[in-house]
Amino acid sequence: MNVDQMGIPIAGIFGAMIGSFLNVLILRLPRDESVVFPGSHCPRCQTPIAWHDNVPVISWLLLGGKCRHCRERISIQYPIIELTTAALWAGAVWHYGANLTGLTAAAFGTLLLGIAVTDARHYLIPDEYTLGGLVLGLLLALRGGWSGLLQAVIGAVTGFVILYVVAVAGEKVFRKEAMGGGDIKMMAMVGAFVGWRGVLLTIFGGSLLGTIVFVPLSLKQKRLVPFGIFLAAAAALTFVFGDTVLRWYIDWVLGG
Ligand SMILES: [Zn+2]
Repeated sequence: MNVDQMGIPIAGIFGAMIGSFLNVLILRLPRDESVVFPGSHCPRCQTPIAWHDNVPVISWLLLGGKCRHCRERISIQYPIIELTTAALWAGAVWHYGANLTGLTAAAFGTLLLGIAVTDARHYLIPDEYTLGGLVLGLLLALRGGWSGLLQAVIGAVTGFVILYVVAVAGEKVFRKEAMGGGDIKMMAMVGAFVGWRGVLLTIFGGSLLGTIVFVPLSLKQKRLVPFGIFLAAAAALTFVFGDTVLRWYIDWVLGG
């Protein structure tokens, strides 16, 4: 086994712990609560959860998805988020190797997962993911030197400006807020990770996914669109497949 292969299970375990923290963020950020204090406790009996009852996935299974003290049900969302994040981190190291690109992929995927789940549940995208993620994305872009950082800055500005213009135009046309500030900040963060071409691809893909999935649904239910979910899915696809798609587009559609 070489370093990269050994790194896969280690990244998976680390990812599960990150996922456990992501659960705390998903629960507390929309309520503006501290994500550090108090420590995890049962929402019903308030008993603090001991470290051995807080092991990602395993504790939930051992306790049968219930609080040890009052038997209150603990949502299956917790182990699902932990497993998904573990898979993201292991997958990133498997695909990109145990290096800064692997770390970047894993961090980006984690941010997008947090955004998608929070937007789906609360119709909002907390600044911690978008502005915090923007700073993280710019720092990680330094792995490509100053030109890497420059690309990330251009990507962030592109994402911000396009969504800002769409939001202003949408307000003029529909006479109400068509797109939230969270989406605008989110696309600045996404741009820092995927560059300006990636931003265009993400917006195109997100709109396509949103239209296919949501238009039939919204005609029936008339509810708000958590557009961040579709942007998050498109951003993840762009990070992994964006270069391939753009190369194909340039070669075949523009004729080289
Ligand atoms: Zn309890």
